[in-house]
Amino acid sequence: MSTPSAPAGSVTPGRFGGKVAIITGGAAGIGLASARRIVAEGGRVVIGDVDGAALEVAATELGAAAAVRRCDVTVEDDVEGLAEAAIEEFGRLDVAVANAGIGSAAAITETDLAQWNQVLQVNLTGTFLTIKHAGRRMGSGGSIVATASLNAVQPGTGVAAYCAAKAGVAMLIQVAAMELGSAGIRVNAVAPGLIRTALTEGMFSMPAVVADFEENAPLGRYAAPEEVAAFITFLASDDASYVSGSLHLVDGGAHTKRYPDVLTHVNDFLAELSGPE
Ligand code: NAD
Repeated sequence: MSTPSAPAGSVTPGRFGGKVAIITGGAAGIGLASARRIVAEGGRVVIGDVDGAALEVAATELGAAAAVRRCDVTVEDDVEGLAEAAIEEFGRLDVAVANAGIGSAAAITETDLAQWNQVLQVNLTGTFLTIKHAGRRMGSGGSIVATASLNAVQPGTGVAAYCAAKAGVAMLIQVAAMELGSAGIRVNAVAPGLIRTALTEGMFSMPAVVADFEENAPLGRYAAPEEVAAFITFLASDDASYVSGSLHLVDGGAHTKRYPDVLTHVNDFLAELSGPE
């Protein structure tokens, strides 16, 4: 398992000067790295997340340029409240990062309906609600960036609900780009490969999964959240002024080969844990 060198790019001072962003799932991982970068580049952010403790830590770290709100992206009032908070706290809304997400790890035949619904609601419905309520408040112009996944285009065993949700996001942002383009609002998605965050700690507890990913990624490694945040903030900024309706892979080239066989790895891992029969 090689550690990423994390060349996350250099900060562009003032790129988000005068701009206000909301970021769902922004209290950790890729969302927090994006919030840090927007603030470092002169912007202000309202972070929404279900993790109250992590929100407090983020608020302390980011200071006056950030506000935080408890927001469950599956609850419409919460998402509307988050978008509204940008106006209340900072007077405008220019950028929305629909980033909150959860994973799934079960064969289709072993997946409960409740589990399926939860993954679809957080990853897909949450993105829909964020686009809906941010799009209504952006006035003339803005940028919406969703965090999809390599699994939007590359299937993997054991991650059916996640794959289906992220593929849905890849289509949703295209429709949103068509509907919101006349208002000057761009809508894009990033599709990260394997990034080391709390979400993927389960995968990192199985070195064979990571080795499999690395073997199938032309760059031969996983990545740090800052490397995805660099692309999210590019899309969110005016640097991407003519980019809309696209899914952008940030995966070290992993889409060129195949996704790790997660289900087989999980079963091998569990068999190893339970020892010889
Ligand atoms: P993470 O677990 O570090 O961060 C996700 C954040 O979302 C957490 O702070 C969590 O509390 C929050 N969250 C979860 N459910 C929520 C809800 N219902 N409402 C609001 N917030 C909620 O994970 P991450 O890797 O930074 O994930 C960010 C996004 O990137 C997700 O959409 C994920 O699917 C996507 N992604 C991650 C990877 C990866 O390898 N880490 C790869 C592809 C895509």
